[in-house]
Amino acid sequence: MTAAKKTVPALEVNRERLWARHMAMARIGAIEGDGSCRLAMTAEDAEARALLAGWCRDAGLELHVDRAGNMFAVRAGSDPARKAVACGSHLDTQPHGGRFDGVSGVLAGLEVIETLAEAEIATAAPVAVVNWTNEEGVRYAPGLLGSAWYSGLIGDDDLSNLRASDGTSFDEEARHRGWLGETSVKFPVEAFLELHIEQGPILEREARQVGIVTSVQGLTWLDVRVLGTDAHAGTTPLDHRQDALLAAARMLEALNEAGRDHSSAARVSVGRLRTATDGPSTIVGEANFVIDIRHPDPSTLAELGTRCAEICQSVGSRSGCRTSVTQRISVPPTKFDRRCIEALEAGAVRRKYSYRQIPSGALHDASNVARVVPTAMVFVPCRGGISHNVAEYASPEDLAAGTNVLLDAVVQLAS
Ligand SMILES: [Zn+2]
Repeated sequence: MTAAKKTVPALEVNRERLWARHMAMARIGAIEGDGSCRLAMTAEDAEARALLAGWCRDAGLELHVDRAGNMFAVRAGSDPARKAVACGSHLDTQPHGGRFDGVSGVLAGLEVIETLAEAEIATAAPVAVVNWTNEEGVRYAPGLLGSAWYSGLIGDDDLSNLRASDGTSFDEEARHRGWLGETSVKFPVEAFLELHIEQGPILEREARQVGIVTSVQGLTWLDVRVLGTDAHAGTTPLDHRQDALLAAARMLEALNEAGRDHSSAARVSVGRLRTATDGPSTIVGEANFVIDIRHPDPSTLAELGTRCAEICQSVGSRSGCRTSVTQRISVPPTKFDRRCIEALEAGAVRRKYSYRQIPSGALHDASNVARVVPTAMVFVPCRGGISHNVAEYASPEDLAAGTNVLLDAVVQLAS
């Protein structure tokens, strides 16, 4: 709360400029229904990068491009010993992507820097806007590529060996497009802030202008195998069956209920169900599915995993089937940096925005960067919670509010 009382000039970002840049960016790779398609390192991505680089050049920023194609455009600080306070996100999109996912975070970072420059406010630390390469992971897997390299999760060799789904080499394509940097040195950053649309319905439903993101929830996948007995649908009486598909259906219902009963933050989902037989007249002897479980708290995530496994076991045995549950992957939750969270929250308080703290349901570049640099995120509401969809929409007012919060946090952290 002391931070909120600190005197900071009442700066405002330029809402019209911020919005106009969103619309200009959306014209690159525009698709029907107001969407954008700019897959990483395609001609469209290169054009979007060039547009950003041009704006950065006009603003007098110095551009650095690294080995992974990540762009850092920097406004110098007054203290040569300081690393940069960076903000940004990604310019690449899903094949049927919208105009805001990722784009808003990059343009908000540039808007913060230009607002500081116009007000002639010097910061001790340099301030940088970042465009992370291939966040979406459509052609090149994994997603969050640039931030994964930056945080050391993958190395130079992984980039050298990386091929697109159509066989294209990442290095060759990045070089051909003009966005393969020379340096493997990670651009020095002392704090990272990412503005992003929420991609969920909570802020809009609660009429909040911004969300201060405290964590990215963890994820566990459980493989469930249900074994019954293949049988004839005409000759086997209903009470003589070990029907693995019916057992799986009961499990799905019970798992959904367990998630609902647990807490509003719990996510329990099944997106894939496969049966060993696929015939209309065969009682299914084997069914397999994956439970996707998410929660921001690590011990609760583990507890939910145990609960889901118990449910499958008990429903399986009541249905006359044998059930095995094995954990495939578990990604721990990311807790964001307290000082970065407080800097963002102080801005929301000072400007009297309606806000709440919120965990992120989706992974972002910030999840990777948080491993090596103090990091936090700010969310802006998006209409209907719709994202990865051409209909994605965030209002100019909400984008400006989120960017003002980012501005205040940058001023505080870079001072
Ligand atoms: Zn995104």
